[in-house]
Amino acid sequence: MNISLAGEVILVTGASRGIGAEIAKTLGLAGATIAGTATSEEGASKITEFFNKENISGLGYKLDVSKADDCAAVLSEIAQSHGPITTLVNNAGITRDNLLMRMKEDQWDDIMDTNLKSVYRLSKLVCRNMMKARSGKIINLTSVVGFMGNAGQSNYAAAKAGIVGFSKSLARELGGRNINVNCVAPGFIDTEMTQGLAEDQKKTLINQVPLARLGEVTDIAHAVLFLASNLSTYITGSTIHVNGGMLME
Ligand code: NAP
Repeated sequence: MNISLAGEVILVTGASRGIGAEIAKTLGLAGATIAGTATSEEGASKITEFFNKENISGLGYKLDVSKADDCAAVLSEIAQSHGPITTLVNNAGITRDNLLMRMKEDQWDDIMDTNLKSVYRLSKLVCRNMMKARSGKIINLTSVVGFMGNAGQSNYAAAKAGIVGFSKSLARELGGRNINVNCVAPGFIDTEMTQGLAEDQKKTLINQVPLARLGEVTDIAHAVLFLASNLSTYITGSTIHVNGGMLME
């Protein structure tokens, strides 16, 4: 069965690298028009170049999701170029790891602003048109850490768990308008976010994974593709766990 996203306009935040880049590529190759974001003009241009090379319809945009004005401005730019956003993928995320006793307030605040408040902000901005259209999908990237906790990541785990509660509430608010709100919770995936880990930390992690490997970005993009497609229209308020069996929910 071929999954077609033709006619969809999809915003993927943090599409310059890692999981977001693969999500943008996968959804674009399925026929959607993609607005992919990076935090720099250079990153945005590279996204546009990549889309052109792959014959994907869409453009790269510069966006800092922690800035309210940026979000509103970029969303109206996207709407002018491509029409209203039909699917939002909140993927952009950062880590600011530290043990609680050493965690500075700005490490806590950076994570809340970039990883959690951005999801509130962008969802609110796309929601109006989706409600009018009586259709739409919001897909939020959470993490296995939001479910299990992780020493040194109390800020990140709190934001990722917050995304799950937010998504369930929004799914209840918007279900009557035929808008699906779901999460994908990656385990440990091989990206720049995990490449900074020491070899012995990686080995310890892999020992906790029944499938005995880190995940690939494609593993996550495929779950997002399913949630973005009409194969998942009766799923809302749910989380798809993609973690090699590390956490069985
Ligand atoms: P990554 O490789 O570090 O890439 C992060 C992306 O987010 C980049 O495109 C980056 O843009 C963008 N970004 C960072 N700060 C931003 C901001 N303030 N505004 C807008 N965009 C911003 O991360 P990843 O590993 O692909 O992770 C993607 C998502 O999956 C995140 O939400 C992460 O928490 C989640 N996740 C990842 C893993 C994992 O093992 N990798 C596990 C669980 C969950 P620039 O390139 O311009 O900096």
